[in-house]
Amino acid sequence: MDVAVILPRSLKFRMTLVVILLVLAATMIVTWVALVLAERDMKAIIGNQQFALLSSSAAQIDAQLNAKKLLLASLAEDLPPAATASAADMLEFVNRHPIARREFRNLVIYNRQGDLLHTQGQGVATLDTSASLRAYLAKVLADGKAIVSPPYKSVMTGAPAVVIMQPVKDAEGRATMMLGGSLDLADSSMLEQVAGQRSGRTGYSFIFTTRGILVQHPDRALLLEDVTKRDNLNLGMQRALEGFEGWTEATGQDGTPSIYSYKRLRSADWIVGARYPVDEAFAPMIAMRHKGMLAAAAFAAMAGVMAWLAVRAMLRPLSLLRQHIGEIRNGSADIGVLQPCRPDEIGDLAGAFHELMAEREAAQKAVRDSEALISSILERAPDAFVSCAADGAITNWNEAAERTFGWRRAEALGRDIAELIVPPAMRGAHQAGMQAFGEGRMGRLINARVRITALHRDGHEVPVELSVGSIRHGGAYYATAFLHDITERVAFEERLTQLARIDPLTGIANRLYFEEVLQQAVVRARRNRMPLALAYLDIDRFKSINDSLGHAAGDAVLCEFATRLGANVRAADTVARIAGDEFVIIFEQVDQADEAARMAQKIVAAIRVPFTVDGAPLLVTTSIGIALLDGDDLAPAALVARADAALYQAKRQGRDGYALAP
Ligand code: GH3
Ligand code: MG
Repeated sequence: MDVAVILPRSLKFRMTLVVILLVLAATMIVTWVALVLAERDMKAIIGNQQFALLSSSAAQIDAQLNAKKLLLASLAEDLPPAATASAADMLEFVNRHPIARREFRNLVIYNRQGDLLHTQGQGVATLDTSASLRAYLAKVLADGKAIVSPPYKSVMTGAPAVVIMQPVKDAEGRATMMLGGSLDLADSSMLEQVAGQRSGRTGYSFIFTTRGILVQHPDRALLLEDVTKRDNLNLGMQRALEGFEGWTEATGQDGTPSIYSYKRLRSADWIVGARYPVDEAFAPMIAMRHKGMLAAAAFAAMAGVMAWLAVRAMLRPLSLLRQHIGEIRNGSADIGVLQPCRPDEIGDLAGAFHELMAEREAAQKAVRDSEALISSILERAPDAFVSCAADGAITNWNEAAERTFGWRRAEALGRDIAELIVPPAMRGAHQAGMQAFGEGRMGRLINARVRITALHRDGHEVPVELSVGSIRHGGAYYATAFLHDITERVAFEERLTQLARIDPLTGIANRLYFEEVLQQAVVRARRNRMPLALAYLDIDRFKSINDSLGHAAGDAVLCEFATRLGANVRAADTVARIAGDEFVIIFEQVDQADEAARMAQKIVAAIRVPFTVDGAPLLVTTSIGIALLDGDDLAPAALVARADAALYQAKRQGRDGYALAP
């Protein structure tokens, strides 16, 4: 598990914890380093002290061994000559020197050949049983001075012992005999001094020969043991056998790390050693270490309490800052409370918060202003602005909407837009559009301008140009619509359409209108198998009217001509001026050629009645070509061409009359 998860989130707690850990680590490291240094120094002191003590006991043993050697040397001078001495003489000699009896366990006398001439004890054996002893005797003879023997097991007592052998010389200075004094290793006051020298409770001293044979040891059973035969001879011992003198650290036979000191004797091939287990030597240091660690922990705990108090005091302005921000958010305080008042980081933080809050307020004000601007723009927009929720309920209704549809805002809000302004015929399309909006599929509709009709409160339809959009507000979508009232434009367009089909001079249909009507009339006549006649009219010698009376008079004639045509046809018939002085009449439901001729005649006669131009009468005549629609006329233009051809015919026949197309 992550440690951070189980720790409290309090910054105070975390900072205090860090202080405790740092103080604990620092005091422990300092304590540990101090103790390690102290231990190292103390080890040197203990080692040196132990070595000094050992050196002094070594010097004492040296002194005593030398004294024994001197004693033997003086005795040797008194010894009767070897050639003459009997066993009784020897006994008598020994008895004469009681001091020697005290100093040595036993006195022995050997001849050059190694034969035992005298010994104190019973059941005496010679030394020749041991090759090493024979070598030793040979060395004594060769060196000509007293030498301490290798340790051996006493034949007499069975106890470990050594002998100091002094060569006895004749008048010529030749060694003739050897006088030896033996020392019981297990029971020697001289060595007991070494044994008595102990360091601490379990420390002890010991002596071994330079060949590794134990000469003195608190455990008597180990005497004469050859330590070089041990499997795990400790390192100190090894170094001592190689000639080392001084103190060193090594692990003993029993696995205990100890301080070992070694000192060689001068009077014998012996090494005096001492052992002091480290644990014991450092018992006070170990106790100190425990106390030191406890003190470090206590110090850290104390530092923790102080850190907690200090952190709490230092973070109080931060808590205050948090409280202020809370108050600003719930409106009970002004952002002025955040004015930086401290010269530290918390002051900087308060300053930063103040800036942030000021920016936030400014931004909020800007948003409010912008919202107000947008709503006032929408409110006063020249077009109706309407929005509704996905269920159709109206949520916006501006002034233009009130004007366009007649509903007050208060009446419109919340009502279903469909029942308010969508004409019944369009409700299906409206519902489909709303569904697409609800499903978010109205991409194609967005911002497209479409011309539809909406419904006014009083029931009349209002032509509008619609552009829809979508806004997201408070997590919900709303459909928006601008509805531009185009009533006037539609009327204007209708007027334009109308104007485009009327001859401006005479006010009757023009060529465009004529062609549309003819097209429809031909289709209708064919479908209903109804007859249709087309009359093509041209005023006779109109140029001369223009030329003699002027263009205005010509215009007046054209107008009067048109009026007379209109007056002489049925309401269902269409009269149009298609160019200059050319007119046409579409007669629907004309049964046969006779009836058409009659109609033509009637018109010719109506025109013959003198016109009144500028107050004076004027004779105007017209020629008419008539064509009846028959099965061969595939296009209306063919009918027009036939009527035109008949007109040409009428003109050729002398004008003021009509001709029927064949
Ligand atoms: P015709 O008997 O063969 O028809 O002889 P016409 O003199 O009438 O000859 P035409 O029909 O070819 O002449 C038509 C004239 O109508 C020519 C032109 O100057 C005149 N005109 C065309 N449009 C107008 C108009 O709007 N007003 C006036 N005053 N004259 C027009
Ligand atoms: Mg004419």
